[in-house]
Amino acid sequence: MPEKMKAAVLHAVGDLRYEDVPVPELNPGETLIKVKAAGVCGSDVPRVKKKGTYSFPLIPGHEFAGEISEINSDISTDFKAGDKVAVFPLIPCRKCPYCQIGEYAQCDNYDYLGSRTDGGFAEYITAPIANLVKVPDNVSFEWAAMTEPASVALHALRRSGVDAGDNVVILGAGPIGIILAQWARICGAGRVFVTDIVDEKLSVAKDYGFKNCINSRRNDPVETVIKETGGIGADLCIEAAGTPVTFEQSLRIVRKLGKVVLMGNVSGNVTIPEKTASAILRGQLTIYGTWNSSFTAVPKNEWKTALQFMSSKALDLENLITHRFNLKQAVEVFDMMYKKQEFFNKVMFVF
Ligand SMILES: [Zn+2]
Ligand SMILES: [Zn+2]
Repeated sequence: MPEKMKAAVLHAVGDLRYEDVPVPELNPGETLIKVKAAGVCGSDVPRVKKKGTYSFPLIPGHEFAGEISEINSDISTDFKAGDKVAVFPLIPCRKCPYCQIGEYAQCDNYDYLGSRTDGGFAEYITAPIANLVKVPDNVSFEWAAMTEPASVALHALRRSGVDAGDNVVILGAGPIGIILAQWARICGAGRVFVTDIVDEKLSVAKDYGFKNCINSRRNDPVETVIKETGGIGADLCIEAAGTPVTFEQSLRIVRKLGKVVLMGNVSGNVTIPEKTASAILRGQLTIYGTWNSSFTAVPKNEWKTALQFMSSKALDLENLITHRFNLKQAVEVFDMMYKKQEFFNKVMFVF
């Protein structure tokens, strides 16, 4: 085992450095993973450029997959060196009331790879054995590195209890929006509408077979969806753009008794006009928040489900990966993404 490794280390807000750091040491119950692919999450860009991580210095990156290189465990596990794994980045305390009911995303005292403790923008990372999930042979490391967004999207959709034939609107056609649209189709949705303000993103959605794409700069998405659904409105809307505008649209685009899932990380304050507020009440809308994903065996480990659907190709991630970089380009990559110098969907560091 080498003593040093390369990593992209955040030393302060905006101060990312590609440098040599020690290979992390293994505590009992942990594995050392050789990272093979690590995706840049939409949340990583503000994390590196504006908000910072929980402490410094810290290695960001919470969407990654790799190969087990060492295991430190006295008790036998299902995992062995050489196994291909994806890693649930949330490390729950396993003691608080929420952990006791398996709601790890609600844990009062959790750790998080890539924001609170070192993440995957490095050659090696340590992670608890309990956070690993095996990756099927026919799923690439790059796809496996997207198990996190795929599971987060599945979780959002499962929150709503989507039903066969439901007309679903996805607001926001970023990587998660397109994964959401695919899950909606897998779950038997009727029509799936996708909205965005960037044509390139909508054209990716079209390539995935979603014909009902609306550029909200040109056409009012609420009017369009209401018209297209015979004046009724959608059965379900998932807000995946995280803007005050789409937040408010999500509440007007669904029919009476409809459902809204709020998923996008909202930046800015949201103002709800009186008419919209009234429509929530009078239309008896159901509004769900969604956060993270489920990693319990029962009723469903969403990570395993996501990987199964990748394995069968029912969930297709290939066209979402627009950029592949070497980790040594990390500083330029974050500049490019922050300044939106070119169109990108999922940006991936490959090792
Ligand atoms: Zn993410
Ligand atoms: Zn907890």
